[in-house]
Amino acid sequence: MSSIAEVYEKQRNFFYSGKSKDIAFRKENLKKFRSAIIRYESKMKDALRLDLGKSPTESYETEIGIVLSELNYTLRHFEKWAKKKRVHTPLLHFPSKSYIITEPLGNSLIMSPWNYPVQLTLVPLIGAISSGCTAVVKPSRYSGETSLVLKEMIDEIFDEEYIALFLGGRDVNTELLSYKWDYIFFTGSVNVGRIVAEKAAKDLTKTTLELGGKSPVIIDESADLKRTTTRLAFAKFINAGQTCVAPDYFFVHKTKSKEFLSLMVKAIEKAYGVDQIGNDEFGKIINHHHYQRLCSLIEGSPVYYGAMKDEQRNKISATILFPVKEDEPVMQEEIFGPVMAVMEYEDLDDVISFIRNRPHPLALYIFSENRKNIERIHSSLIFGGGCVNDAIMHLVSHTLPFGGVGDSGLGSYHGKRTFMDFSHEKGILDHATWLDITLRSAPFGRKEKIIKTMLH
Ligand code: NAD
Repeated sequence: MSSIAEVYEKQRNFFYSGKSKDIAFRKENLKKFRSAIIRYESKMKDALRLDLGKSPTESYETEIGIVLSELNYTLRHFEKWAKKKRVHTPLLHFPSKSYIITEPLGNSLIMSPWNYPVQLTLVPLIGAISSGCTAVVKPSRYSGETSLVLKEMIDEIFDEEYIALFLGGRDVNTELLSYKWDYIFFTGSVNVGRIVAEKAAKDLTKTTLELGGKSPVIIDESADLKRTTTRLAFAKFINAGQTCVAPDYFFVHKTKSKEFLSLMVKAIEKAYGVDQIGNDEFGKIINHHHYQRLCSLIEGSPVYYGAMKDEQRNKISATILFPVKEDEPVMQEEIFGPVMAVMEYEDLDDVISFIRNRPHPLALYIFSENRKNIERIHSSLIFGGGCVNDAIMHLVSHTLPFGGVGDSGLGSYHGKRTFMDFSHEKGILDHATWLDITLRSAPFGRKEKIIKTMLH
């Protein structure tokens, strides 16, 4: 394979050849991409088992299936999204017509993290192909087995002048970021997001930053605790809690905390059994560094349930820390593991000011039957997105924007938004020549009154 510099040059030339813009070319490549994913399904499942201990069903549900669903949706709609659109023309411009030409941004760079290595690498790539961009893709080194399978697949189906994947560590990311791109789609941590934003700012490159952070859960006194705990057992422990929008810390109304905790334990054991470490459907921590980081977070707080460990396999059982205090280590960083930090509250105002005093969360979840409380939370807090009486599932939707705000990210994607992320809308005013109304031009004389009527 060519070097980064060679691929960069080839992709620039290829984009200007106009080939990637052609609608038939885009469609053919989306279809080629779809059949390759189906062909590589079992290799991906094997790799995800090795990297993250994911069961084949979990891998399909949370990775491969999501990519195929986005691909099918895009294939059904992208031609309509890409069409030139006529829009209304203000009277002032008579005789003119106005239209929007949706164009690919050009040469794109996609960088992804290790926690959902298939989905978070391939869904943005659907946006690059459908919009007509070229792409250089850089998956994470931590999910090395999956990255290898992705590389094999991409090398097999695409020419590097169109789409290329580079393996490697930070040095490769750093080299890639030293080039001027037309668009960067980055998914990862807040700290690396800052580095990407800084590099992109130098060239004024459009960027989407899908970052992380601590996503709170509020369980008020009206919540249906049985439903709440069943849904949370799924949302918190899928992929061993290594999900960007995983519920991180929990505020439970004081009158409900005991019942919540006991139902939570039941829900965990119903889903994963008593011995979660021995359960093949309960994922592992990505590597020893993160395993140790999580162990030290657990050590800093009172354990209510779990905290069983298997150092050999980097596995930690479902763990509930309670009662957690604001200054404990687990409240100082994104947990990103199978650990729940639970606190009690009495007054919703205290919860609101607690969350307001921290970075804007990527996701926020409220479990409640009280519409006033739900609306209050939605109108008084800034966060990326979320669910009512559920968690993480807002990310599985073609119609909802998925992304953060402020510290948790910039921009959003999924469905049409992914296509639009990689696109630029050219607004064109097309003025006919058969008539020239000189109202706008000097000499102005007494034209102001007529101009006012035309503009308002
Ligand atoms: P990370 O930021 O460490 O790595 C992401 C990518 O950046 C990887 O490809 C990595 O190789 C690269 N990278 C790492 N250090 C770099 C550096 N100094 N310079 C340039 N590139 C560098 O993130 P991670 O640990 O792989 O993933 C976990 C984080 O990602 C969590 O914070 C999680 O919340 C977040 N995340 C967000 C989303 C989302 O959709 N918003 C999804 C998944 C994960």
